[in-house]
Amino acid sequence: MTLAVCVRCGESKVGAFTPCARCGLDPAAHGTDKELQAKSLLLSDRFFPGGELEAMGQRIRAGQGVDFDSAKLAELLEELKTQKLPVVSKASPGCTVVGLVLLGGALLFVAGVLWMWRSYGR
Ligand SMILES: [Zn+2]
Repeated sequence: MTLAVCVRCGESKVGAFTPCARCGLDPAAHGTDKELQAKSLLLSDRFFPGGELEAMGQRIRAGQGVDFDSAKLAELLEELKTQKLPVVSKASPGCTVVGLVLLGGALLFVAGVLWMWRSYGR
């Protein structure tokens, strides 16, 4: 569980890539905006443990903005580009297996229909 702060409005949230309940900003939906995702990652308790993160959120909420550590930001951008970080963990291994079984079932069904169709034609 990662505590994070919304990059746009400073609202606290759980998970760096979860949609913000206050302004609706959803970093995961911005697949190509790696900088937004990097900033979202930076504004989490991974980099600002405890009260520090809350202080960052308060600064954003007050409209003061935050100074992103450019070195850390560049580092995170690089991590995101090389996909070392699982940005969206929606595709768990279990889902893949279920998907394959469903796909296999669908193929079998199509093969069965084709076979019956051919038998019927004779
Ligand atoms: Zn927000």
